[in-house]
Amino acid sequence: IVIKHYIEDAPKESHFKVKSEALGLSLEPGSDDVIVKNLYISIDPYLINRMKSHSASHNAISFATPLIPGKAIDALVIGKVIASGNAKFEKDDVVLGVFTWAEYSVVKEQSIIKKLESSEFPLTYHLGVLGFSGLTAYGGFFEICRPQKGEKVFVSAASGSVGNIVGQYAKLLGCYVVGCAGSQKKVELLKEKLGFDEAFNYKEEIDLNAAVKRYFPDGIDIYFDNVGGKMLEAAVDNMKAFGRVSVCGVISEYTNAENKASPNMLNLVYKRITIRGFLAADFMNVFGDFTDKTLDYLRDGQLKVIEDRSLGVESIPSAFVGLFNGDNVGKKIVVLADD
Ligand code: NDP
Repeated sequence: IVIKHYIEDAPKESHFKVKSEALGLSLEPGSDDVIVKNLYISIDPYLINRMKSHSASHNAISFATPLIPGKAIDALVIGKVIASGNAKFEKDDVVLGVFTWAEYSVVKEQSIIKKLESSEFPLTYHLGVLGFSGLTAYGGFFEICRPQKGEKVFVSAASGSVGNIVGQYAKLLGCYVVGCAGSQKKVELLKEKLGFDEAFNYKEEIDLNAAVKRYFPDGIDIYFDNVGGKMLEAAVDNMKAFGRVSVCGVISEYTNAENKASPNMLNLVYKRITIRGFLAADFMNVFGDFTDKTLDYLRDGQLKVIEDRSLGVESIPSAFVGLFNGDNVGKKIVVLADD
């Protein structure tokens, strides 16, 4: 799947096309390439920022480099090796790596993050709760916010891949947790299945500031921001003194430049609020701690896993577009074949 041209605002399925290309399923003699049959593709919002013609300004960060219309789109993928010229990989190895929105990818060793051994949990967890979504949630919450038991935590896009894990970590720590999401069904999921104390549908609120105040009459200690825009402004208005805002992403701003947040900076000064952005890759030093803690929670059944699957390579455009319409509940994955 490729983009036909750069996308400047909200993505539509018509912006993408299926491109068929012959792939030599045998390797040239002497090649150290690995041919991977892709099984599970992670669908992630940040890619929209690489589909814009002006994304070049972020060239320094590899996962912000602009994509080229008509060329392969890279993504986090779990696949099975079908041929390998590289001695470190052999046929039938299951690997996690940065491959492509395609049925097969020919990759170099440096694109392979690791081999996945069979484990007690589904392989797809390595794209979500045990992968980058989980690490993002873990690092962005524990490392950036330094939460304490009993603190009041607000999470936006709370039913999404990162947000639902943040809310669950916060509940497991003993915080009061409120999430916002874009439908009544999602609100019910947060409260009834994931244990959030409260949740609300931001699309039904006329005054976001008043909505946030309703759930935090004494203020917010920690805001985990996945959306930016007006919700960030409302959260900052309701922070307590020394509150921490962890800026994970600003999805409401990716497709509409008019949504750019302008929080009340005087509030920041008087209340000594910290607002800090981060990248999941910043937390590789705590990957072991993250994995140990998350596996314990999963084994105890304390952490619920929500995945949202679509089938087949042709479903990639709608799966991706759906992220910006709130179609997904939990980690969005496109399944191409089973392991
Ligand atoms: P999600 O699974 O949360 O999917 C995106 C969700 O965002 C949608 O389901 C939708 O839920 C919500 N959304 C879409 N458009 C809007 C809008 N205009 N206003 C408010 N909410 C909107 O995706 P992820 O968990 O993968 O990502 C969440 C955020 O974290 C994104 O901003 C992403 O870029 C960022 N991120 C950052 C990383 C980092 O390293 N810093 C790593 C991974 C993700 P709803 O129905 O509630 O509107």
